Formats: sequence, structure tokens, C-alpha cells
Amino acid sequence: MDDRVSTVPAAQAPTLRAFRFTLDPTPAQFEVLARHAGAARWAFNHALGEKTAAHRQWRERVDALVAEGMPETWARKVVKVPMPRKEGIKKRLNAIKADTRFHDPLPDGACGPPRPCPWWHEVSTYAFQSAFEDADRAWNNWLDSLAGRHAGRPVGYPHFKRKGRARDSFRIHHDVTKPTIRLEGHRRLRIPKLGTIRIHDSGKRLARLIAKGDAVVQSVTVFRGGNRWYASVLAKVDQPIPDKPTRAQTARGTVGVDWGIRHLATLSQPLDPATDRPVDLLDPADLRVANPRYLDKWTRRLAKAQRALARTEKGSKRRAKAARRVGVIQHRIAEQRATAVHLLSKRLATKFATVAIEDLNVRGMSASARGTLEQPGHQVRQKAGHNRAVLDAAPGELRRQLGYKTSWYGSALAAVDHWYPSSKTCSSCGTAIPKLPRDQRVFHCTACGLAIDRDYNAAVNIARHAVPLVERDVKARGSPVRPASDGRHGRAGRQKREDPPPSGGPPRRE
Ligand SMILES: [Zn+2]
Repeated sequence: MDDRVSTVPAAQAPTLRAFRFTLDPTPAQFEVLARHAGAARWAFNHALGEKTAAHRQWRERVDALVAEGMPETWARKVVKVPMPRKEGIKKRLNAIKADTRFHDPLPDGACGPPRPCPWWHEVSTYAFQSAFEDADRAWNNWLDSLAGRHAGRPVGYPHFKRKGRARDSFRIHHDVTKPTIRLEGHRRLRIPKLGTIRIHDSGKRLARLIAKGDAVVQSVTVFRGGNRWYASVLAKVDQPIPDKPTRAQTARGTVGVDWGIRHLATLSQPLDPATDRPVDLLDPADLRVANPRYLDKWTRRLAKAQRALARTEKGSKRRAKAARRVGVIQHRIAEQRATAVHLLSKRLATKFATVAIEDLNVRGMSASARGTLEQPGHQVRQKAGHNRAVLDAAPGELRRQLGYKTSWYGSALAAVDHWYPSSKTCSSCGTAIPKLPRDQRVFHCTACGLAIDRDYNAAVNIARHAVPLVERDVKARGSPVRPASDGRHGRAGRQKREDPPPSGGPPRRE
């Protein structure tokens, strides 16, 4: 019997979920995919070009006024240059596009603004529109970051996308009332202008939800990773969002998760309560989640491929081939890591009522130890190895996934502040010991004589002292979740910001 259905009053709430498929395109489709990605890149650069031009114009006028003796803060307020946005850019491009003078390809093959590329009609118009939206977002993120309104690390001035550097990707929308992006059976995905592409894995789960009327496809993001193409189908899913944990989850209570270098994680209680042994007698292996140190396993192969790349001549065919090989290995590593983290986050969110983590400042943790000239860092080499391992284990990604998965499965996320000495505190009597070297695997309490695995000790402390994060970090249950399937790390339920731009900042938006 499904515990969740019978005991928990579930709220039906639409949630945005991404369903990712690996594609098996035909050689002809491969080319169409690449062309769309190229068009999206061109459109993004075109839009960004209009924005930077407007910004430059604004800067020049400000400088002119300052040269005439006006204080800069005044000049910044006085000068107004409308910032081109999606609608305006689209309108202007359509106007030129309709002009027969521009139908012939340019002699030098260049396709810079304001003249569009001749292949416009071969590509879905949605690929252009989404690229314009992306340019708007990149620009706004930069403005918000300048004004201190953007969470996370500072966002730099938007970059133009370079072929071969920027990720090949494009997004296609449709009218949800007359869906043209759809699954045909379980093995084929139909996308307008691209045709029916075979799916390497299976679309069964999504197809069933659509058939039941529980999912509506919103858009599809198609992207290249390594030598493969993927489609991430974004669907609005009407799924029961439990507002409290199931009886089974409640019985398991809180699990403390200690992030590790040696192991992906050490838990305060095992994932599967297959045994009725008391926790103290448990095999430590039951409490550990193996670390997918694929990077270690693949490092030699990657290093070899990178050496081969370094030996090739710039611009040669061999170089392109070697670069592809490096990309494929890197992509493979990332895929395996992502799988391990997804697996763990789902198991934690479904099996326990509360998942307690250390609120790690991933940026601080992986900050370079190099220091400055005046104050050189300590243990730079050791720290460098540590950094790689931390990033390899992707703690920030697990935390992000736990944020939305706990809200899907009725559990809650809790955290202890990362300043709390979870490793150095005795989980039995609460005494904090002053020092615990990194290589000391067993925690010895000087007060009560406890001697237990150091990571397990930390996990127990985390479980005990964590405070719920719901209010602060995770928005109300059922709020739309922007998945990171398109490569950006979306944050749960983030609302689009419509604040006015900073006074004294760059020009106003149109
Ligand atoms: Zn103690």
C-alpha cells in the first residue's frame, strides 16, 4: 500500500520538471541540430551587440558631459539611452529580414549586425527568440549583480559566445494549447522544424504523465555534451505534493549528512534499515556512500588526451579531433558524477523526514590557498588536491537538489552553520576538542573517552544541531522549480526581478 496516498493529504500543485533524454539523431538531423545551435549563438551575439552598442553610446555621452564640467553622478542620471530588449531587437531584425536587398549572402560570409544571415528561414524562429531572452537575462543579471541584488557570486559583463567555446544549445517553445513538441511513442521526440528524433533512452515516464493529463510540455532545450545531443523537455507536472512526510519517513527521522573527501558522504544512519543492530554495532560501510572518484579513474586518460592535444598544431584537423576527445572524456566524468549525486539526493529525500547538511560555503571551501605576495598561503599543494576532490564530489549540487527534492517528497532540508565545529565536537558528551588533524580518522573524546569514526561523529552532530532551511532558502512547497538542465544552476522558485536598474548605473531598460 502506498503510504503517501493513504495517509497524507496531498496538494495538487503544478511543478516545472525537466525530463532529459539522450538523442540518437540521424546524420542529417545531426546537421540540423548543429545549425540551430549556431543560429541561437548568432542571435545571442546579435542581441548582445545591440546592448553593448547602446551601453557604449551612453558612456560616451556621460563622458562628454563630464568633460564639460558636470559631476559624473549627475551626468549618469541625466543621460538616458534606451536599452534594446527582446521585442525591439526582434522587430528590427524582422524589418531588415524582409528587405530583399539582404537576401543575398554577404560576399565575405560575415553575418554581423545589422544584416541577418541568409539561413534564417531554415531555423525555427523560437531558437532566435530564446536566444534574445537569454541575452536579456545575461544583461539583467549583470545589472542586478552591480547593484548587489543578485545572489551568489558576482556576475561579470556578458560575453559573446564563441564557436567551439560556448556550449552548443538552443531552446524551442510551442503553443501549449496546440502542442507541437511531443513524444511519439516512448522512443521518439517530435520537435517542429527538426522532425522526429529517436530517443536513446526511454520517454515512458513522461509519455504516461502526458497521457494521463498530468503533464504539459512547455519547451525543449536541446544541447550538445561531448559527442552526444540531449533534449531536456520542460513540463508542467501536476503532481501530488505531500505537505508532510510519510509514516515511513517519519519513522526514520533525521539523517545527518557529512560531506567527505574519502567518501561522497557519511550518514548518521544507514540508507536502508536492513538490520536491527544498534547503530554503534553497525558496519561503518553501511553508513558510507562511496565516492564516485571517476576523476581519479579517468585522470590518466584525460591527461593523456590533453597531452596529445597540446602536441597538435593550432588550427589543424588533428587538433580538432584531439580537442573532441578531451571533451568526450570530460563530459563522461561529469555525467557519472551527476548520476551519483542525483541518486543520493533522491534516496535521502524519499527515505527520511529531514535531511540535515552542513551549510557549506562551497566557494570558501574551494578558494585557492595561494594567498598574496605579502602573505603566501600555507600547504598550497595539499589544498589544491583537496579543492579538486571537493569540486569532484559537487557538494553545492547535492544541496541544490536536496532543496527541491525534499519539497517534492514531503521531507525537509535542515542545515548547521558551516562555522559549527561538527568534526571537533563529541557527539556523546558535547565536548569540543581543540584540534583534529585531517588525516586522523578516529575521533577521540578527551572528556568521556568516546572513540568513533570521525565522519560518523560529524554526521551525528549535524543531524542533532541542524535547523530547518524551509523559510530561508526553499520557497513554499509546490512553487515552480527551475531545473538546471540547461547548464545554469537555477534556484528554486526564483521570481523574475523587475526592479528598476540602479541609479547611477548603465542605461535604463527600454
Ligand atoms: Zn565526549
